[in-house]
Amino acid sequence: MMEVRSTKHEVKKSIAIFGSTGSIGRQALEVVKANPDRFEVVALTANNSLDLLIEQANEFEPDIVVIGNEKHYLQLKSALADLQIKVFAGSEAIAQIAEMDSIDMVLAAMVGYAGLKPTINAVKSGKTVALANKETLVVAGDLINELAQKHNSAILPVDSEHSAIFQCLAGEGDNPIERVILTASGGPFRTMTLQELEHVTSAQALKHPNWDMGAKITIDSASMMNKGFEVIEAKWLFGLKPEQIEVLVHPQSIIHSMVEFADSSIKAQLGMPDMKLPIQYAFTYPERLKTEFPRVDFLKYPELTFEKPDTNRFRNLALAYYAMEKGGNMPCILNAANEVVVSAFLKNKIGFLQMSDIIEKAMQKVPFIKKPTYEDYVETDRETREFVHSYTPNH
Ligand code: MG
Repeated sequence: MMEVRSTKHEVKKSIAIFGSTGSIGRQALEVVKANPDRFEVVALTANNSLDLLIEQANEFEPDIVVIGNEKHYLQLKSALADLQIKVFAGSEAIAQIAEMDSIDMVLAAMVGYAGLKPTINAVKSGKTVALANKETLVVAGDLINELAQKHNSAILPVDSEHSAIFQCLAGEGDNPIERVILTASGGPFRTMTLQELEHVTSAQALKHPNWDMGAKITIDSASMMNKGFEVIEAKWLFGLKPEQIEVLVHPQSIIHSMVEFADSSIKAQLGMPDMKLPIQYAFTYPERLKTEFPRVDFLKYPELTFEKPDTNRFRNLALAYYAMEKGGNMPCILNAANEVVVSAFLKNKIGFLQMSDIIEKAMQKVPFIKKPTYEDYVETDRETREFVHSYTPNH
């Protein structure tokens, strides 16, 4: 008789994917699909993309599906009526399912501030959190770290730069980091003058040279706010001081980031730009799974080049460093202001360079709080959005 080693539930990792219809969520489901013996999807959540959520639910048959926008609830429920799937709606429901016992790991892949509450709940429930939602750490990194420690929750980076640093640190034990070098592609406007930047459109900004991502992060990449957020994210993930974090523009996006140690040795992680790799590494850490992802052919990249980021043209990076050094609720103000201006820029209500101007005004005007509580963050977010809306007419 054949030996039965274990039931499938015992060997498979049960994953909840928050933000399953976004770019990271979709790629995470590809990783799951390629490794059906390793992963099982137990919950899927989306905010608005009803049709894709229905399609994903049919394919992956999770236990639970949640749609953030309650308007879509009845349609979702009737579309999934023949399946054994519990259907919920609303942001509270999304936040609550993070606590379910059957979940081993939560992939936090929602966009922006909306990711904060569900991530906090997952951390409080002691889940392992694969964190793609960098805004969570930007807004409330101190709170998240404190809760993660208290509730024994592991946070694994999904952002490619932070995954690179995380991979460089494997096997290093307590060896202190001297500095990290976050690489940046420089985005589609890397070589433009200030005058040219004044007239760029959201359509131009949405064409990223190397990475295929969602609209919000693609604009953040073009404005370098994404890199600014990643600097703050690195501070919290790896316990770094601001002066230990450097940004280096590397247009080929082959080196995903580097770590320098006390003896001057530098480790780097390289690969073709494909988010499925960091997603899968977070899912399988510390193991590596065989993939068919394209390999780097160095002869096709005879030159890996580097440039200093220009904070005169890309002021968001300087604003983010300022917010990180100031601490308190300043990064929360930075994030909230950025979410509103990016949305206004996407609708062509304001120009590209105006985004930094308005964010800076918000950072000057919204009251600073040195040691914010969760409630303070909620209030800061609300107040900043209200302030910024007065600068983005008809939006
Ligand atoms: Mg990144």
